[in-house]
Amino acid sequence: MTLTMLVAAAIAAYALGYSLLCFVSPFGPCRRCDGTGNHISWLDKRRAANGTPSRPKRRIRKPCRRCKGTGARLRIGRRIHNHARRIHADGTR
Ligand SMILES: [Zn+2]
Repeated sequence: MTLTMLVAAAIAAYALGYSLLCFVSPFGPCRRCDGTGNHISWLDKRRAANGTPSRPKRRIRKPCRRCKGTGARLRIGRRIHNHARRIHADGTR
């Protein structure tokens, strides 16, 4: 087995695993709010990065604008799959 075959097999295994993941779980956690669905202010993010405790939460949290408060996002592989299906459906109608 050559190195090229090994690399090709590894890439194929990764692609198969990712497509399986997109089939089983099409939604992943939102990257902006880490899946919480709440808007995290830049100040809280900076405090978390520095290790200082976050300020007291005195007002109601706003929903994340990117995921509209759901905390979920469509995976890129699933988005590509949906786009390809839409193109196929439009072309064969
Ligand atoms: Zn979000």
